[in-house]
Amino acid sequence: MTPIIEAVPEEIYDIELEHSLLEANAKIARENRAVLNQHGITAVDVMGAIGSGKTTLITRLVERLKPKYGVAVFNGDATTADDTAQIASQNVPVVQIATVNGCHLDANLVGKALKRVDLDKLDLILIENIGNLICPAEFPLGSRSRVVVVSVTEGPWMVKKHPHMFRGADVVVINKTDLADVMGVSVEQLIQDVHRLKPDIQVVPASCKSGGGLDEIAELLAPKAANANA
Ligand code: MG
Ligand code: ZN
Repeated sequence: MTPIIEAVPEEIYDIELEHSLLEANAKIARENRAVLNQHGITAVDVMGAIGSGKTTLITRLVERLKPKYGVAVFNGDATTADDTAQIASQNVPVVQIATVNGCHLDANLVGKALKRVDLDKLDLILIENIGNLICPAEFPLGSRSRVVVVSVTEGPWMVKKHPHMFRGADVVVINKTDLADVMGVSVEQLIQDVHRLKPDIQVVPASCKSGGGLDEIAELLAPKAANANA
């Protein structure tokens, strides 16, 4: 039988350091949320692996939402400015956040980005997190909701292998569905995998090529009217 080594918490010597780091992040995330609420801004954290299609999805959503709302994008990218350039072509404010660690955004960096935009002009901030499905789950940024983008080109196991990420999400986008047949990946199975982890979560199959699902996602992520009952 193949031996398996499993870490137990007592063995992780830097657990206290990590704990206080996460505490500090959570505190700043709450401060970010307070700033956003004060200005009536909805922030959405868009997570997903490199190549899942986050930037293109955000670009398509900006196209749909900018006629009605003041939209800005924070783009987490430590290596290139390509994504920022793609989104800036939509003529909305963009802030690139180049992390040092390169594996997740944290609330402190987002707090700094909030100081670089005119909050009075904004209703919605889409935050493109770093392309990684592991540690961004541990670092809330102060957003109202978290979206995970997973594309069929990543193969059939992405959902099952990242339970923590999907349990912490509010909306899941199954992207590049136009390529599902070529890839031999079942969109239905991915949806089932997500619902097994989190039964009540909204899952939207989408294709940035055909435009399928994009209107629905835009509607889900649009700022909710402050006075919905009025
Ligand atoms: Mg990107
Ligand atoms: Zn990380």
